[in-house]
Amino acid sequence: MSYVRSEIAAMSGYVPGEQPCEGSVVKLNTNENPYRASEKVNAAIRRTLKKGLSRYPDPAASEVRNVVAKKFGVCCDSVLCGNGSDDLLTILTRTFIGSGDVLRLPYPTYILYRSLAEIQGAKSETVPFRPDWTLSDDIHRRTEADNLRLVFLANPNSPSGTVIPKEQILDIAEKLPCPLVVDEAYADFAEEHCIDLVKRCEKIIVCRTMSKSYSLAGLRFGYLVAQPHLVEEMMKVKDSYNCDSLSIAAAAAALSDDDWLADNRRKIIVTRKRLADQVRALGFTVPDSHANFIWAAYPGKPLKTIYEFLKAGGILVRYMAYPNWGDGLRISVGTDEQVDRCIELLEKGI
Ligand SMILES: *Cc1c(COP(=O)(O)O)cnc(C)c1O
Repeated sequence: MSYVRSEIAAMSGYVPGEQPCEGSVVKLNTNENPYRASEKVNAAIRRTLKKGLSRYPDPAASEVRNVVAKKFGVCCDSVLCGNGSDDLLTILTRTFIGSGDVLRLPYPTYILYRSLAEIQGAKSETVPFRPDWTLSDDIHRRTEADNLRLVFLANPNSPSGTVIPKEQILDIAEKLPCPLVVDEAYADFAEEHCIDLVKRCEKIIVCRTMSKSYSLAGLRFGYLVAQPHLVEEMMKVKDSYNCDSLSIAAAAAALSDDDWLADNRRKIIVTRKRLADQVRALGFTVPDSHANFIWAAYPGKPLKTIYEFLKAGGILVRYMAYPNWGDGLRISVGTDEQVDRCIELLEKGI
């Protein structure tokens, strides 16, 4: 007999991308940013350390709430901070989805969503993307059983890097009987975002992370924007001190440095275009990416073997195989030099 809840025993658990020991490996597998974070982050951490860490942190992380509120023209009560956006996704599923409820998500997308539903003992229902990565009306279809509780939409999507236009997101949310979480982990690399839609539609909740566009994956910080009455409910679910003093100070400093973000965004977008063009020139199909990675498919080619060839040559990318969809390589945008090495090896391996 197992002591473990049956839902947990039955699930396989989310497996994050490989984190090899630092060395000569070029790491293009988990969409981290290749550049160092703003210097202001280090200064903020040093200032906090000087004050000491003997006190508990501010449970609401008000310093960050204020910066986010000002940046996006929302009120502080609309902002909830998390220990990385994975923490926020956990808070969201715990707040909205109970045992036997239904979570809906497109397919393929961020794999963690499904694991979070499984932990709740909920069912997940997938709506496949069309081959061109657009979404059909099935995403807001009303189900017979009235237990659809939450829809997750990564926008830009992972692994494709593609986007669903803002008008369509608003339309989907208005037709849904439940909240729509727009996971904007990569929105800083895209042309538009949905934070201003939150005021117009109470069903829209937007999630952000500092891990990708702010070069702070090691820090663990994310925030979401939702209408205040929903944030109030989610506050009951989160750990009291889910964000620590160092990361609160660091995130506030990073979010205040608009010049750093603009510069980083510009560099990543220039390199992304070069990477996409060169990978297409090798025969891969690469949808237009609005994120800091590209998705490279090549029906008929043994991509797993190519992934292993790259790995043996010191270039780590993510190989993904989705049942009933197909496989591909998800390649993060590194520095120009890293991307050159990746292309060089791909040319040999293809
Ligand atoms: C990376 C990623 C996250 C997780 O961000 P963390 O803040 O590092 O937990 C969430 N959603 C998507 C779609 C991501 O790609």
